[in-house]
Amino acid sequence: MSLIRILNYIDGQLVPPIENDWLDNREPATGEVYALLPQSGSATVDAAVQSANRAFAGWRKTPLEKRAKYLFKLADLIEQHADQLVQAESRDNGKTIKQAALVDIPRAATNFRFFAAAAQGFASESYHNDGSWNVTLRQPLGPVVCISPWNLPLYLLTWKIAPALMMGNCVIAKPSEVTPLTAWMLSELACAAELPAGVLNLIHGNGSVTGNALISHPQVKAISFTGGTTTGQHIASTVAPLFKKTSFELGGKNPNLIFADCDYSRMLETTIRSSFSNQGQICLCGSRILVEDAIYDRFLSDFVARTQNLKVGDPQDPQSDLGAVVSAAHFDKIMNAISKARQLGGNILCGGHPVNVPGRCAQGCFIAPTVIVDLPQSCLTNQEEIFGPVVTVQRFHSTEQALQIANDVPYGLSASVWTKDMDRALSVAEQIDAGVVWVNGWLVRDLRTPFGGVKHSGLGREGGVESFHFWTQTKNVCLNYSSV
Ligand code: NDP
Repeated sequence: MSLIRILNYIDGQLVPPIENDWLDNREPATGEVYALLPQSGSATVDAAVQSANRAFAGWRKTPLEKRAKYLFKLADLIEQHADQLVQAESRDNGKTIKQAALVDIPRAATNFRFFAAAAQGFASESYHNDGSWNVTLRQPLGPVVCISPWNLPLYLLTWKIAPALMMGNCVIAKPSEVTPLTAWMLSELACAAELPAGVLNLIHGNGSVTGNALISHPQVKAISFTGGTTTGQHIASTVAPLFKKTSFELGGKNPNLIFADCDYSRMLETTIRSSFSNQGQICLCGSRILVEDAIYDRFLSDFVARTQNLKVGDPQDPQSDLGAVVSAAHFDKIMNAISKARQLGGNILCGGHPVNVPGRCAQGCFIAPTVIVDLPQSCLTNQEEIFGPVVTVQRFHSTEQALQIANDVPYGLSASVWTKDMDRALSVAEQIDAGVVWVNGWLVRDLRTPFGGVKHSGLGREGGVESFHFWTQTKNVCLNYSSV
């Protein structure tokens, strides 16, 4: 089988890395190497930044409507190539075809379409005072960097690229080294869309080489990063003295607060999804399920039964509910977290073991969806992100106790609250440490709303106007006049 050779997209060209270094890309469902990707060193990173820098003068002056046309074109092309992109995302990440077809690829197209349209209605402020009018300009920053993780590869990359481009910046984007395939296909679509050279550059390589060279490049003006909290801390400490603008979307340990008066069947259905979608590898997955005493036993029995019915299988099989986790290294990390939970006294009600998927997936990285109980809130399992198909369930007696448990973690990305009592729902939503709260739902997204976390889950907000504010710098122009 011949290997796919992924190239960088720099200055409008598909090119190998100057350093001629390459990394293996594996399919997590089979363990096989099926592609090679560039390990871009500092010379390649510099070429990409210079290309963005050269393109900036022209792109910032390109009328908004024309910029939008390119993005609409990209959205159309993604939709026209949806089948290939779905196959590629599933192969590269291990996610099921179902997940890639319903969520990842449609959303990538929507990201371009949404920000292209929204930017055309974006207005800045003006302030009128006696003797002066102040007009606040929002101007592009220059060459900017988008760094995204492996869990929703094209979805999260396009979520950053689209608003950055619409605000007149030129982008250097780096997908995760673990899942480069759909970003590579996006490069080909950008060529087909005839995006002007240098406006978008997509370069590949791992975090410690390519990522580090990118974030510390002196001409890079802003960095939007989505990934783990430890990487976020490293980037924050590296770029703080360089005064680059930064946005951090980081890890989570999201609570799901279930009160006895909730709409039970809707809650159960959604909680299965919020626990195990994408093998639990969505930053918004609810990995801590807190259940009110009165329905705890009923919930546990129904939830475990539903979990045991989920089919772990070949990601290409449309009947599979869970596919492979993203890599052998991540498989080990999750299995170590499960074994730590056992050592801490956790009672594993289902899962907790690898799954052998026969045939072409015999060497793949599959883990049974896992439900753990009987662990104290303070233990590592309930404090640190696992980012796999693993949830813990805890009991609570009162709203105050539910809130106390929910907030007792270093993270604060999202939360779900399940109750029919609207007074309680609103009061809990207000008091919970999270950037995003769903009442009686999960992952209901409106792209106009602010998105991001508190505490160790991040800094800054993206989405709608928040993205446009991040990708611009403000300049106030004061028009002074004498009254006549
Ligand atoms: P990582 O932090 O390991 O990597 C994220 C990205 O950063 C990758 O492209 C990675 O490259 C790159 N990177 C790594 N080191 C550096 C560095 N020194 N300088 C610059 N870039 C670097 O996260 P994962 O890919 O493992 O993703 C999982 C994490 O992402 C989870 O913690 C999850 O919660 C979080 N996440 C948060 C979301 C949010 O919106 N808050 C959404 C989705 C995920 P490479 O992989 O090639 O090494």
